[in-house]
Amino acid sequence: MSENKAEVFLQKEILREGGLSIGSFMSHALCHPDFGYYQVNDPFGVSGDFITAPEVSQMFGEVIGAWIADLWIQMGQPQAFNLIECGPGRGTLMADILRAVKGVDGFHDAARLYLLENSPGLRQKQCESLSDYDPKWCQSVKEVEANAPSIIIGNEFLDALPIEQLIRIEKGWQQRIVHHDPENGFVFGLREAPKDLLSFLPSKTISDQYYEVSPQRRSFMNECADHIKAHKGALLFLDYGHASRHYGDTLQAIKEHDYASPLKDIGSCDITAHVDFEAIFDALTEKGMHVLPVVTQRHFLCSLGIEHRAKALYSYALKTGSAVTVDADLKRLIGQDQMGCLFKVLGAFYGFNYQAVGF
Ligand code: SAH
Repeated sequence: MSENKAEVFLQKEILREGGLSIGSFMSHALCHPDFGYYQVNDPFGVSGDFITAPEVSQMFGEVIGAWIADLWIQMGQPQAFNLIECGPGRGTLMADILRAVKGVDGFHDAARLYLLENSPGLRQKQCESLSDYDPKWCQSVKEVEANAPSIIIGNEFLDALPIEQLIRIEKGWQQRIVHHDPENGFVFGLREAPKDLLSFLPSKTISDQYYEVSPQRRSFMNECADHIKAHKGALLFLDYGHASRHYGDTLQAIKEHDYASPLKDIGSCDITAHVDFEAIFDALTEKGMHVLPVVTQRHFLCSLGIEHRAKALYSYALKTGSAVTVDADLKRLIGQDQMGCLFKVLGAFYGFNYQAVGF
């Protein structure tokens, strides 16, 4: 069974390393080729473990499509540009975007589609849903030739990139790790924090609280910034998390739409952590990108007219007599107590005059 494979592998790693950092543990649990969660599952939808915004309703992708089309026009309608999606899941978001912008003259011909995805099973799904658009796959933004403007997007991608947890106790900064004990299985522990991680901490911290830092997210954003700055372009990332720096343990596992222990059933539940958007904002600003103020998903989608789109979809559904879930879907996407406020949107651009919409 894949679970056993995961446990055997992780126990060996723990022995070899004297404990695994949260980041290494997360990265094996999600991306190990033999048992990683995304490698062996299709996690989305009612029958899966969780539902993401593009899987809730086509409206989400259509509105993002409108944002991208406007951006492309403001960039001067370049005849060739890279449209890169990071972590496309089933390819639903990109399919909705491309359908929504069909009427924008020249857009489809200009777009060179890249999908950054490391799961072979999900690549296959993306291949099916995007077969009309000739996508190319990559493992890193660095693989995409930076000889044209680029638009990079990602929904619920950053939360899947590993974090590390640090806590200051009496004997100094400690790093949270996972180790194994024969009675209880995988358990959390602490060891002295490596010095290089401390540079990711905010300048003011309090004792006895966990701080989450993510060198992986930072280096991913640096790669995006380097890529865009080589020519010009913009990026848009949507995810759940906080707009300004926080402390607290947000590591979570989800299985069949419910919270689970991140230390059990490894490979069969999704493990994520909230995104610290202030850290992303700072990383991009340091790289010289123009970063827009972080807004809620509700603000972004409503400014771009999702409520009007919902009305049109609703009228169409009434005419055709198809099941009407438009209202509930809209609430799910923008409701204050649903995805509307927990999810944030970060946009940044470089190399052209941009009158930002949605922020
Ligand atoms: N954007 C989609 C899916 C979000 S789930 C949606 O909103 O429905 C996270 C996605 O990121 C999956 O496609 C997963 O396989 C991919 N992913 C996670 N970690 C990755 C990594 N390190 N490199 C490339 N893709 C990754």
